[in-house]
Amino acid sequence: MAEEFDLVILGGGTGGYVAAIRAAQLGLKTAVVEKGKLGGTCLHNGCIPSKALLRSAEVYQTAVKSEEFGIVTEDVKIDFSKVQDRKNKVVDQLYKGVQHLMKQGKITVYEGLGRILGPSIFSPMPGTISVEMNNGSENEMLIPQNIIIATGSRPRTLPGLEIDGEMVLTSDEALKLESLPRSIIIVGGGVIGIEWASMLNDFGVEVTVLEYADRIIPTEDHDISKEMLRLLGKKGVKFVTGAKVLPETLKTDGSVVISAEVNGTTEEFTAEKMLVSVGRSANVEGIGLENTEIVKEKGYIETNEFFQTKETHIYAIGDCIGGLQLAHVASHEGITAVEHMAGQKPERLDYSLISKCVYSSPEAASVGLTEEQAKKEGYELKIGKFPFRAVGKALVYGEADGFVKIIADKKTDDILGVHMIGPHVTDMISEAGLASVLDATPWEIAKTIHPHPSLSEAIGEAALAVDGLAIHS
Ligand code: FAD
Repeated sequence: MAEEFDLVILGGGTGGYVAAIRAAQLGLKTAVVEKGKLGGTCLHNGCIPSKALLRSAEVYQTAVKSEEFGIVTEDVKIDFSKVQDRKNKVVDQLYKGVQHLMKQGKITVYEGLGRILGPSIFSPMPGTISVEMNNGSENEMLIPQNIIIATGSRPRTLPGLEIDGEMVLTSDEALKLESLPRSIIIVGGGVIGIEWASMLNDFGVEVTVLEYADRIIPTEDHDISKEMLRLLGKKGVKFVTGAKVLPETLKTDGSVVISAEVNGTTEEFTAEKMLVSVGRSANVEGIGLENTEIVKEKGYIETNEFFQTKETHIYAIGDCIGGLQLAHVASHEGITAVEHMAGQKPERLDYSLISKCVYSSPEAASVGLTEEQAKKEGYELKIGKFPFRAVGKALVYGEADGFVKIIADKKTDDILGVHMIGPHVTDMISEAGLASVLDATPWEIAKTIHPHPSLSEAIGEAALAVDGLAIHS
């Protein structure tokens, strides 16, 4: 017997499960179909496990450098199986939390592979969904009024570069490493590559990053890329930018050997393992798109601003629609989609107000336009920059590298972009996010009295620096 729902969501990752909770709040009878584990990439293969490992690496480095703080520790060692145990515990705890939230919202969860079958006489719009159940029981048939596709993404590789899961890894396998390699080549210096470079280097692994572009984290402001390269370089990470990796040269006999074209010459790189972090592809195969009118653009599902596909009762959100592939983006797209189908007239998501973070050590975070983008858009700029070395709390922490940079429009005083690199900036960027949402000026940020001593003083001072009025510089 087919069961009817107001909404069936394909995929229970951050986008899907959050959409389900919002739907339940709005009184929609909702089901989530999840072939793996609720929580998806972010909880099991992304944000959370990677940050748990980063935290262990940070604690290790703090212990190694503890004498600077007058604390004598001897024989500091890494027990990597315990590092992994702790990571798994954090993930499990949050996984239980998501399962609880599904029960609390009376959301039905089908553990299996969902597929859209298209319209039939029993289910004209948007069509039946079949679920191939993980437990091997007969396929379930679901008849929804609305569907959200939230099937996420998977790691991409370079054409011809085979991932063997042993020596050549993606972040999926790297998260499950049982021991640390002595050395690693990281192909790709984007956000994921830089987080791994920072973490593994802090764990004592010899790291070489090969990046095709002429700078690392190339979507961030130039000053941030430059400072990240300098600071991680100082800590021992080797960077080769402008490196075109040649997949056909890969050898994995005992160690990983690969060549890359760098400035017109071919260089060879050797390490114990290689991590490929060159982006992610949408999971759009095998979900029955061929039974619908849905259109794809460059491998991603095309939607309108309320996340409706060409079939207006089928929405798509999160990594499978491309754009900013971030957990908080997926969840907010999910909320917007649900509110739209429930007739709530939600506001369009403004992607220029979304914060982006790099959880390396030092961290980086930004909201809005980079200096290059702002110039390209024709703005006349005034820029305020303030270094953490002039912030008392940063010195107290022993983490005084980095700065806050605020870019404003000379004519209107509008804040166009805020970029930070340094201690705990991923927790501080929300102030800039709020300022941007409220259309605040740098002067209004500066008028917000920042407590002393606090790292956030760097934001207040950078805001003053926009008009040349910083106090401590
Ligand atoms: P996913 O989380 O991928 O969920 C999709 C779900 O759909 C999966 O559980 C999958 O099993 C399921 N599914 C797929 N097909 C079907 C089907 N046919 N039937 C049933 N179920 C199906 N983002 C951040 O914002 N902050 C971070 O710090 C961060 N760190 C990251 C670190 C790493 C190493 C990686 C890889 C990613 C990171 N991300 C981070 C990105 C973030 O994980 C994704 O943007 C987010 O998970 C996208 O959510 P989603 O719901 O679209 O997809």
